Amino acid sequence: MTDAALAASLARLDGQLFIDGSFRPGVGIRLPVENPATGETIGRIAAAAPQEIDDTVAAARRGFRLWSRELPRTRANALHRLGDLIAADADGMARIMTAEQGKPVNEARGEILKLAEACHFYAEEATRVHGEIVPNDQPGFQSLVVREAIGVVAAITPWNYPAELVGWKLCASLAAGCAIIIKPAEITPFTALAIADKCAQAGIPAGVVNVLTGKGSQVGQALVEHSGVDKIAFTGSSAVGLHIQQTCPQVKRMTLQLGGNCPMIVTASADIAAAVKGAARRSFRNCGQICIAINRIYVARPIYEEFLAALGKAADALTVGNGLTDPAADLGAMASAEPLAKTRDHLADALARGARLIAGGAAPQGEGYVGGHFFRPTVVADCTHEMLVMTEETFGPLVGVAPFDTLEQAIERANDTPYGLASYVYARDLTEIQVLSQGLDYGNVAINNVDAGIMNAPYGGRKQSGVGYEHGREGLLEYFNFKHVRLHHGVGN
Ligand code: NAP
Repeated sequence: MTDAALAASLARLDGQLFIDGSFRPGVGIRLPVENPATGETIGRIAAAAPQEIDDTVAAARRGFRLWSRELPRTRANALHRLGDLIAADADGMARIMTAEQGKPVNEARGEILKLAEACHFYAEEATRVHGEIVPNDQPGFQSLVVREAIGVVAAITPWNYPAELVGWKLCASLAAGCAIIIKPAEITPFTALAIADKCAQAGIPAGVVNVLTGKGSQVGQALVEHSGVDKIAFTGSSAVGLHIQQTCPQVKRMTLQLGGNCPMIVTASADIAAAVKGAARRSFRNCGQICIAINRIYVARPIYEEFLAALGKAADALTVGNGLTDPAADLGAMASAEPLAKTRDHLADALARGARLIAGGAAPQGEGYVGGHFFRPTVVADCTHEMLVMTEETFGPLVGVAPFDTLEQAIERANDTPYGLASYVYARDLTEIQVLSQGLDYGNVAINNVDAGIMNAPYGGRKQSGVGYEHGREGLLEYFNFKHVRLHHGVGN
């Protein structure tokens, strides 16, 4: 896609809401959306007005009645069409994402292709949703446990993965027979609108998929409070997740996928080169703006300095660039000034408390970086548990490293935060692997790899990292109610 084609795509989505199967210009005020690599305004979104929100919920309720009665095969076919359309336009959609989010185009394209994969995964799952016949307490009865789609889902999503985090909720909703209203992050709305465009092309009926843009505190909160919304599927910060839980005025289903501060433990038996490679990837990919990013690394003391030197070298070797003009850069711009400021704060806090700077520590220098939110991948060593980087989510390209003497000490430190999303282990000793995988109080434990989430397995956090699951069969079940049908037929046992 050329620059002109990107500009045309953005202009088509500018100020639009997607309601009841078609785009319409929003009546509300316009909010600017900026390219974080340059600071240029790339378009404006409409802040959805109360009447538009009510209209959308009404359309979604109509869409739900129709969609939930379709055959599973019909829903599956629509998801396959959607996956094919998204994959076919991966480059165009990736450039829209990069323009608003900052990640390099090659990485954005990978995310779009994973969204297409999610469509096909859930298409297959859609046809295999079955119920159960369970034993009874009296002869002559049969109990059927059937699954019924929940209803209208409000999907409220963050800006770090603008396609996948919308997609997991969208695909599960479509597979289950729910209708969905997507409220994307204010700073990355155009990817969600581009997905809605593909839904229309895929022939998904009016009202089944809708996109409302605007501020979370207004549009998101209105959806949380709306009596016509049956489920909230939220991904975002722990603070906003808790706020949603506390301010929802009705009883409604919720999945809350929240923040993390993810540890990695590298034992003396580890393959150090593999651990360094994994650490560099999962600490710095997407500028560390990943809920499952490695924030802190505990390294066995005998290999501590060797690990640090190699990680510093790996961090220094990573390239930082404008994601549109340098599509193969390792890191693009950070998505906004906010995570960049937090990264600087956490770094300053660590250095003030005695941490040793191993790599990075500043924005890259040069004309290409002026006006954008750039920062070099940064490693600090000799970190203590009092430092913010070791207990709070930085959401930036900063990782803290500390030595440990016993596995028990490493596990205790690793578990000692309010979060429980993902953890990582590098070790070759089987006993160490078993002790660590049992001891880590996390929803995901990746051992000798750093890809904690795959489409087939449930993905969710513990403690302040959330409730409920996405991905896998468990993720799909979050979009169903169970109904127990107890039937008296009076025949024998
Ligand atoms: P955020 O500030 O919590 O925002 C997330 C979404 O909620 C945005 O769409 C936001 O709208 C909206 N929102 C804000 N206030 C709201 C309210 N009162 N009611 C309803 N919606 C509201 O999070 P973020 O900064 O975008 O994303 C980063 C966070 O997401 C990190 O903590 C990260 O760990 C977490 N995350 C978790 C996972 C996971 O799977 N566990 C995955 C990715 C990210 P606006 O954009 O308009 O503010």
